[in-house]
Amino acid sequence: MATTLPRTALAAAALVAAGHFGPTLSAVGAVRRRALPRLAGTGRPGHVALTFDDGPDPASTPAFLDTLDRLGWRATFFMLGRMAERHASLAGEVAAAGHEIALHGYDHVSHLRRAPHRVADDLRRGLDVVAGATGRHPAWFRPPYGLLSAGTCVASRRLGLRTVLWSAWGRDWTTTATPDSVVSEVARGLAPGGTVLLHDSDCTSAPGAWRATLGALPRLADLFAAHELAVGPLEDHGVAPPRPG
Ligand SMILES: [Zn+2]
Repeated sequence: MATTLPRTALAAAALVAAGHFGPTLSAVGAVRRRALPRLAGTGRPGHVALTFDDGPDPASTPAFLDTLDRLGWRATFFMLGRMAERHASLAGEVAAAGHEIALHGYDHVSHLRRAPHRVADDLRRGLDVVAGATGRHPAWFRPPYGLLSAGTCVASRRLGLRTVLWSAWGRDWTTTATPDSVVSEVARGLAPGGTVLLHDSDCTSAPGAWRATLGALPRLADLFAAHELAVGPLEDHGVAPPRPG
C-alpha cells in the first residue's frame, strides 16, 4: 500500500524551520498555531503542555526532576536515544517520577540532511532505546531542530508516533539565555492550549544553558497562574487526533 503523507505534514515541511538554527521565526510560531494546530501541539484552553528536549542528562535532568516535583508538575520529556542509552537509569527515573516519555530521535541530526531510510533507522533505534530504558512506549515524536522531511513523517507514522512541535519556546539554548529571558520568550508565544518547548540538557546547547531554564521554572509558575493555566504533559493536553489519510 502506498503511503500518503497527511496534508498537515507536507505543509509543515514547508513551513517549519526553527530550533537551534538561525534567527527567531516567531511568525512561524503564529502561523503554525493557526494553520497547523495538531503539529503545534495545540490542546485545550486553560492548559499548557510543558515539554523538555535533549535529555536525559545526569548534569541537569535530576535538578529538573526536583523542581518539577516541588512545583507539582508533570511534563513530557522528549529523550534522545543516544542520551537514554548512556544514562538508562536516569531515563527510568524520569518515567518513575510520573513524567511522560517521548522521542526526540536517536541522534540530534537534522532530518533534512539525511536520506529517508536513515531517518527511519534513527527513529526506530531511538524508540527501541528509549522504550527499553523507561519501560514506556512513546506516543509523541519531535524531530531535532523541529525540522521535518517527508521521510520524517513517513517514519514516525509507521512507528505509531505522532509528530508534535511547539507553539512557544524559551530560546533557552543560547549563551545569553537567563531565567528572565526564558520567561519573556515563553510569555511572548503563550496562547490558549499552547505547548512550551524547553531543554533539560545542554548537550546540543550552549554549555550550562539549562541553568537559565531551571531558574525560569518558578517564574513560569507565576506566569501560568496569572493566565489561569494548568500545567501538564502532552498526554493530558487534549491535542486532537490526526485525521486519517
Ligand atoms: Zn533538540
